Amino acid sequence: MSVTVFSQLDKSLHEHLDALVRLASDGDDGTAAALARSELPRVVAAVKALLDEHAPDEHGRCPTCRTRRFSRRLPAPCRAYLGAQLAMTVAAEAPGRHHRHVRSAV
Ligand SMILES: [Zn+2]
Repeated sequence: MSVTVFSQLDKSLHEHLDALVRLASDGDDGTAAALARSELPRVVAAVKALLDEHAPDEHGRCPTCRTRRFSRRLPAPCRAYLGAQLAMTVAAEAPGRHHRHVRSAV
């Protein structure tokens, strides 16, 4: 029963994130601005929570993943941390029509 609930939660989360991406890229400027104000802080909070949980310690190891069995030989930092870092870096560097410089409002 709990497996079904969790998979449903996971599905809902992914659908929510997909909808955010769709609205951000296809919506008009007003929709995109409203979306950024209401949803971006939540997405940032989620990424921060994940990064905090998987932040490498002074030896470069993830304290969360390290506690799991067979994880001692995993490369460090852990894949969750690297994956999030990579996704953010690639997204920030990728050229695209949505990567415009913010015009000065002055
Ligand atoms: Zn980790």
